[in-house]
Amino acid sequence: MKTVNTVLGPLETTKIGFALMHDHVLGASAGIAQVYPELLGADYKERILKGLIAAKHAGINTVVDADTFDLGRSVKILAEVSKLSGVNIICCSGWYVQLPPFLGSFTADQFAQLFAREVREGIEGTDIKAGILKSASDFGGVTPDNEVILRGVARAHVMTGAPIMLHSYAPDQIGRQQIAILKEEGVNLKRVKIDHLPDTTDIEYIAWVAEQGCYLGMDRLPGIHVPPLVRVSPEGRVRTIKALIDAGYASRILLGHDTFLVSTFFDNLPEVAKNKLAWDNPYGFLYIHKYVLPKLRELGVSEKVINGICVDNPRNFFEGN
Ligand SMILES: [Zn+2]
Repeated sequence: MKTVNTVLGPLETTKIGFALMHDHVLGASAGIAQVYPELLGADYKERILKGLIAAKHAGINTVVDADTFDLGRSVKILAEVSKLSGVNIICCSGWYVQLPPFLGSFTADQFAQLFAREVREGIEGTDIKAGILKSASDFGGVTPDNEVILRGVARAHVMTGAPIMLHSYAPDQIGRQQIAILKEEGVNLKRVKIDHLPDTTDIEYIAWVAEQGCYLGMDRLPGIHVPPLVRVSPEGRVRTIKALIDAGYASRILLGHDTFLVSTFFDNLPEVAKNKLAWDNPYGFLYIHKYVLPKLRELGVSEKVINGICVDNPRNFFEGN
């Protein structure tokens, strides 16, 4: 029997069910929820619960929360809302794109020890364990700081067996650099997913990622629109998924929205900036159900394939298949 760490303890992988593989329950900066919860808004827990309960009703069983420590990860809150909503939450260890000024001198091995401890023993003095490791690089490629974290994540993976998710910038094919470093570290690429791939329509690049053995994180749905960097429309993103299915990669596709139920960033943008930055997603965690899956059906994708992508693939990813 294989299990994955959730914020409420180990879960049999056969019970992962329908999973959102890259989303954000609560995103902020490190310590905000603990020290300045006012910045999340007085009703932030209610808003999280409303989103999770709606997700549960739609048939979503599990959410991979992509908030690392520096993105405001709050495992006690995650455990509370998981219990109240009935949605399994798999939290992550690792780091997002920037290291703060006073952490620049630590080594990959030192970070690996921290991340491995969060997978094996627990986080913030609790027994809540991370189920996945995350590293990030964006446009501009793998920076020196990113490389320290990426190697730290790779080594923590080798130590613990926990899988890896990589925030990546698909239009510049940054995954190529990240994968090269993981290969140097001896990581089994079947345990890795490269995220945010719908930011490109370059099927050749995405197919290359799959051919390396990696899972395909098709998780910016409908995506964040930062002109002129990201231009792929919501429909274009679904068409890329369809093209990957047609090309024989259905078994590697993992879906998510990369959307936030609560976020100190998105919740506080002036309306004009919000409209500029985000494609219209009126459905939050239900966008895949309300837009993506109907669109895939319209394009001729069968229920069997859809079920395989949403249910079988997450289980296979966590089982290392
Ligand atoms: Zn994300």
